[in-house]
This record gives sequence, C-alpha cells and structure tokens, in this order.
Amino acid sequence: MEKKNLDWQNLGFGYMVTDYRYVSNYKDGKWDEGKITSDANITLNECAGIFQYAQCCFEGLKAYTTEDGKIVCFRPDLNAQRMADSARRLEMPVFPEDRFVKAVEEVVKANEAWVPPFGSGATLYIRPFMIATNPVIGVKPADEYQFRILVTPVGPYFKGGAKPITIKVSDFDRAAPHGTGNIKAGLNYAMSLHPIVKAHEEGFAENLYLDPATRTKVEETGGANMIFITKDGTVVTPKSDSILPSITRRSIMYVCEHILGMKVEHREVLFSEVKDFAECGLCGTAAVISPVGKIYDHGEEICFPSGMEEMGPQMKKIYETLTGIQQGKLEAPEGWIKVISE
Ligand SMILES: *Cc1c(COP(=O)(O)O)cnc(C)c1O
Repeated sequence: MEKKNLDWQNLGFGYMVTDYRYVSNYKDGKWDEGKITSDANITLNECAGIFQYAQCCFEGLKAYTTEDGKIVCFRPDLNAQRMADSARRLEMPVFPEDRFVKAVEEVVKANEAWVPPFGSGATLYIRPFMIATNPVIGVKPADEYQFRILVTPVGPYFKGGAKPITIKVSDFDRAAPHGTGNIKAGLNYAMSLHPIVKAHEEGFAENLYLDPATRTKVEETGGANMIFITKDGTVVTPKSDSILPSITRRSIMYVCEHILGMKVEHREVLFSEVKDFAECGLCGTAAVISPVGKIYDHGEEICFPSGMEEMGPQMKKIYETLTGIQQGKLEAPEGWIKVISE
C-alpha cells in the first residue's frame, strides 16, 4: 500500500478531502446496505430536517498505525453504542451497532493510504455522523436519514509536548439538566461557539462549564471531560446526567483502577473543592489528556501545584499508560484494540 505523499509530521487538526467515505441511507423504515463512495458532497432539499431543526448527531474516533505496522482503532464499539443513544434521544433511527463497527473498518481500509505512519504523531480522524435528509417544516422528526463516515488525517493535538493550559469558568451554560448534554448532538456545539470565541479572545484555551441549575458543581468543557487528582493521589471525575460520557475518560478510570491500582471516584464535584486538588486535566479522543495549570474564575485564579510547565506526575503516568495501550506497547484490556489491517 503506497501512502499519500503528505508532510505527516506537520499536519494540523483540520479537514482534508480523502478518497473514500461510507454512506448508508434510511428510507421507508429501513437502512440500505450501505457503500463506500468517492463523492465528498451531499445534495439535499433546502427543507431537509438537518437544516431546519438540527437533527444531527456524530461521533469521533481515530485510526492509527502501531509500531508493528498494524492499523487499529480504539474501542469503536463504544462509539457505536453512544451514537445509538444519541440517535434515540433525537428520534433518529439507530444505525445498527455491529454495522457501525464494520463500516468504520471498511472506510479505514479503503483509505489506508491516508492512515499516517507510525511515529509521525498523526492519526486518521474518523467522523461518523447522521443527518435528517427529507423535507420537514412542521416540527417533527424526519422520515429519511443519512449515516455517513468521513475520514481525514490530522496532526497531534499537541506539537512538542503537552503544555498545561488555562481555562475559564464560563458564564454561559453548556447543557440543561435533563437536556441533551449526555449525547453527541451537533446542537450542543452550535451553542458553544459563541462562548469559545469569547474565551479565546480573552486568552483562555477552553471554557469550564458548571451545572446550570446551581452553578456550584463542575461539569465539563465544550468538548472534553474533566479529571482531577487529589493530593493523596485519588482520581476524581465529575458525575452528572448532563456530561457527555467520554470514552477516553471511562478508559482512564479503568486503567487507573485496574492497571495502576489508584483509587477512583466518579461523583459530584463541587467547584469549591477544585482549589484543593493537586492536578487537573481535560480528556477526550483528540488530546487524550490535556493538563490544566490554571482555572480563572471571575478575577480569581486557581493555580494547581503541578504548575504551567509540564503535566503533573500522576497525569503523566496515566497518559503514558493509556497511550502505551493504544499504541500496542502495553497489553490492552480485552476488546479495546480493534485491528483493521495487519
Ligand atoms: C466527544 C466529547 C468528549 C470526549 O469524548 P471521547 O469519547 O473521549 O472522545 C467530551 N465531551 C464532549 C462534550 C464531547 O462532545
């Protein structure tokens, strides 16, 4: 397999048109058999449900090359499950979970030439998504949908090591109680664009959202879950029905408890206790773990003892273990690594 002639070491995190995508359409109550196509464009009626009432959900995962030359991806079955949950909440038809995993496999295989080589730090970002495609004007779910998977090579989230970032406590809310915060819906991101643009203008890397009802509990950032380490080395991660269940975060909790032998707590986290933690980080597919050095809260700063120079010691240990598992250097728990090509 001849790789594309790209400057793999210097890719950014952006979209690039690749050769193939997977498409399946839902009509008359059923999904068609699906296929790989080379057409990167979608033509839809102006009144399609996606345009009018934002009926859209998506997923994000990565395929990458391991040291021994295999192309793999990490826990795609959990993305399939989460997308099924998102679809149900948005009154969209579920794309069967086993077919989701097969489609990921197919589209990555078709685009093997675009999978970055081992050691480049780059990966093939996989974006499955589903949209409502037929016209609706009265408020109701559409009857026709498209499930599609696009792939695009992306660079490492952090070039030259993960420097701790500064985030701010947002005055905006991300997700209402009993709303859609726990699913991966496009609409959750539309409303986060204004707050993130404002935060960037003010010099912050991300927004930390508190629970909208009481503004006393930590939820998550716009696109990543939070993890904290207490001074005695316990891993603490916020629990709330309006937090998106990050696969990275769930994997980290498992690794901490079962491989690193750390104490793990998944519970409500009061913002008032954050100042007492030793380390803080964001976690998600793109960055794995991104250390937070400082949280700005309306004129006051919480500075973590791990500082602004590098990842704290516990976070580093967790980061190295998880990425070691993902890269095939450490033994993975059963079923975590899906081999796509040997
Ligand atoms: C996708 C996402 C995450 C990260 O989830 P992973 O499965 O770890 O990639 C966290 N928070 C939000 C709001 C997200 O949309």
